[in-house]
Order: sequence, then C-alpha cells, then structure tokens
Amino acid sequence: MTTVEVEERPPLTLLIPLGSTEQHGPHLPLDTDTRIAEAVAARVAESIADAVIGPTISIGASGEHHGFAGTLSVGTKVLATMLVEMARTAGPEFTRIAVVNAHGGNADAVAKARDACRSEGRELVSWTVNVPGADPHAGHSETSLMLAIAPDLVRLDRAEPGVLSPLSEIMGILIDEGLIGVSDNGVLGDPTTATAEDGREILDRLVANAIRAIGDDSVS
Ligand SMILES: [Zn+2]
Repeated sequence: MTTVEVEERPPLTLLIPLGSTEQHGPHLPLDTDTRIAEAVAARVAESIADAVIGPTISIGASGEHHGFAGTLSVGTKVLATMLVEMARTAGPEFTRIAVVNAHGGNADAVAKARDACRSEGRELVSWTVNVPGADPHAGHSETSLMLAIAPDLVRLDRAEPGVLSPLSEIMGILIDEGLIGVSDNGVLGDPTTATAEDGREILDRLVANAIRAIGDDSVS
C-alpha cells in the first residue's frame, strides 16, 4: 500500500508478525518462527475486517540459541524498545497494533513493551504462540507446522530426535548455558513423527487462539 492508500482507508488494525532467526535443528530453516508468524498473521487478517499486515520483524530475542550457526539475536531489551518506538510513531491511521509472536523467547520483550505502552496510554495488543502439550523446539509440533506451511524447506532426511526430557528437568541448564548445554542437535522433542496433517490442525488452533487474543483486546 502507498501512504495515500493507508490514509484513505478507515483506521486499521496493524498486524506485525514477529519471528526469530535461530537454529531449529538440522532439518528446519533458521526462519521457521518467522514463517509461522507470517502464516498465522495471514490467516488472522482474513478474519479481522480492518486488519492489514505490516512488515515482519524477523530477528528477535534468541540468546538461548547462542553457539548454533546462523542464529542472530537483538535481545529482549532492544526488541522491547523497538516495539515501543513502533507503537509511539504509529499515527491515527492505526486503531491498534497487534504483535503476532511465534517465538516464545520473545514473550518477555513483548510483555515489557505492552506494559510500557500501557503506561503511556497506548494499547499494544499481542498474541504469543502456545501449543499445549507440544514439544518445545524444532520437534513434532514445529516440524509439522512447517510441513503444512513450507514443506519444500523441511529436510526430513536430516530430522532426528533431540532431548525428550520435560522442560522442568532441563530448565536450570537451559538458563545457565542455553540450548547448546542441553541438546547437541538443538532439538527439544521428536521431529521424526511430524506430519503435514498435524501441522494444519495445529495451525488452525493457533489461528483461533490468535483471533481470540487480538479480538478480545479490541473489545476491552
Ligand atoms: Zn521455533
């Protein structure tokens, strides 16, 4: 859209897909979270009448993946500042900004940004990916999602199980050393059981949750 096209529309809900650039095991691309965020945002935009999709933020807070090739991170503080500044500079053409966040590691930054915006009288709406019962990283859930969203990018021949222990058992090392201290291949879960069908089902659930989160906030 051009600036004039934005101006001519009634006030819009601006969806900002937020992902990451981080290792997702030997079989998924570095921009896995970014692609999931964009896929969810695209579907959410279909259901919210005044929604438009803004530019994607594709580098987030991924410090926990330090040491794995390809990972880039700006950290929680910078990401939170970026979201706050974006909300501050958005004009009256946007009734609200909704962050569609597909990386759990960004959640802290999103919450901090939301609080800061609120204290300034601005509303930053957000949704963060959450699949109850899912394996945490590059396992069945994320690999299934990618098989549904971008199957050509999944190297299934390279998929191998990672660490299967519950997060509560490995959280201490994760916090101290990052993922590299826990899992040699960067995977938490088992991608070898992934299917596109499961991915489509998970995506449907994520989209429904995101619409609920973003829709609910608009009512309040
Ligand atoms: Zn991910």
